[in-house]
Amino acid sequence: MKIVVLKFGGTSVGSIGRVKNVAKIIIRFLKKRYKVIVVSSAMAGETNKLVKLTKQISNNFISSEYDQVVASGEQVSCSLIAGKLNDQGYLSRSWLGWQIPIFTQGKYSHSRIVSINKKNIIKFLRAGGVPIIAGFQGVNSENRITTIGRGGSDATAIMLAKFFKAEKCIIYTDVDGVYTTDPRVVPRAKKIEKISYEEMLEMASLGAKVMQPHSIQDARLNRIDIEVRSSFKNVSGSLITKRKNVSTKKNIIRGVSFSKNDSKLTLVGVKDRPGVAAAIFEPLFRNSINVDMVVQNISSNEKETDLTFTIKNDDLIKTEKLIKKNKKIKFNNIIIDEKVSKVSIVGVGMITTPGVTYRMFNALAKKNINILVISTSEIKISVLVDRKNLKKAVDVLHKEFKLDY
Ligand code: ADP
Ligand code: ASP
Ligand code: MG
Repeated sequence: MKIVVLKFGGTSVGSIGRVKNVAKIIIRFLKKRYKVIVVSSAMAGETNKLVKLTKQISNNFISSEYDQVVASGEQVSCSLIAGKLNDQGYLSRSWLGWQIPIFTQGKYSHSRIVSINKKNIIKFLRAGGVPIIAGFQGVNSENRITTIGRGGSDATAIMLAKFFKAEKCIIYTDVDGVYTTDPRVVPRAKKIEKISYEEMLEMASLGAKVMQPHSIQDARLNRIDIEVRSSFKNVSGSLITKRKNVSTKKNIIRGVSFSKNDSKLTLVGVKDRPGVAAAIFEPLFRNSINVDMVVQNISSNEKETDLTFTIKNDDLIKTEKLIKKNKKIKFNNIIIDEKVSKVSIVGVGMITTPGVTYRMFNALAKKNINILVISTSEIKISVLVDRKNLKKAVDVLHKEFKLDY
C-alpha cells in the first residue's frame, strides 16, 4: 500500500470553508492512488478555550480530567472532515485516540505515543476508506485519555507515519514552510528548502512554533522525512531530513529562533555550600517546572553567591512560592524580571566555523543590546535580552548571518 499521512493544523481547519478545502487536498491524493491517513488538530482557538475553562474551575485542575477536557476539540474537526468527504461520495470516518487505540506513556499533558494498534485502520484503508484521526491524544494503561503536549498533533502524524510505514508525511499549516525565522515577525525571512532534524529540533525547542519539538525527536529517531507546506496555497514547502541530505555550504547559521515569555529570577546572597543548586532546583523539578538558562556567579567571599535562572512566565507564581518556602536554602533577596526574551541562532555550520560567537555578540553590541545571560550547545547560541529589544535583536542577527531575503 502506498500510504501518505497528511496532518492539518488548527488554522487549516479553522472554519467550514477551510475544512472543505482540506477535503479537496485529501481528494487530490486519493486521485493519485494514495491510501490517505489524515490527522487533524482542533479548529483554531478551540484548545485554548478549553484550557481557559479548566482554569476557571481551578489553577490546579486535576491532570487526568484536564486531558479529557483539552482533547475534546479534535473530535469536532475530525468529524467535520469525515462528514465532508462522505458528502463528496468518499468513504471516511473519524477515530479518537482511544478508539484505535493510540497507546501513550508518561504524565498527563506530556505523554508520549509508544504504540498504535493498526488492525482496524488497515482494514478500513483496504476497503478504500479515509481514516481521520484525532491528533494530540491517546490512551494510557489505565484506560484514561491522555494528551501529548501542546502542538502535539505533529507528533501524532509522525508516529502514524512510522507505524504505518508511510511513503510521505506532510504537515499542512498556515505558512508555506519552515523559515529562517518566524515570517510573521520578520517579513524578510526566507523559506528553508531543506533543514536537518538537529537544526529543526533546536529551532523548535527555542521557540519556532511551526513544529512541535517532540515530533522532531520522533522523526529523527525513526528517520522519517517531513514535508511542511501550506494548506492555503499549492507551492513547494520545506523538507526536514537527515543531516547528510542537507548542504551547509550556503549558510553557517540556518535560522534565528526566539521565545517571548521568559522570566528571570536571581537569588542574591545564596549561602554557598555543596549541593545548594540541587536544593534550589529539586522542588521545581518535582513540580514539572522547566528551568532553562542557569548562571551561578563565582562567590567573591567564598560564603555567598548569586544564582540566576530562567523559566516560562506561566510558571512564575508557582516558582516564586516554591523558592520562598524552601527551608533548605538561605539567601538575602530575590530579584524577578518577567520581561525578558531568549534569542538564539542555530546551525550545524557553526561547529566548523570559528568566530560565530564573536559575530553574534558584536552585532548585538552595535545595536546597544545588553546581553543578560548566555547559553550554548554545539549547534546553537542563545542570549537573554530585555523583551523591548527582542525584535531589534532578531532583526540584526538575521541580517548579520545573511539570512535576509
Ligand atoms: P498549526 O496550527 O498548523 O500547527 P502553528 O501555529 O502551530 O500551526 O505553527 C505555525 C506558525 O509557526 C506560523 O504561523 C508561524 O507564525 C510560526 N513560526 C514560528 N517560527 C517559524 C519559522 N521559523 N518558520 C515558519 N513558521 C514559524
Ligand atoms: N489542538 C492541540 C493544541 O492546540 C494540538 C495541536 O494543535 O497540535 O495544542
Ligand atoms: Mg502546531
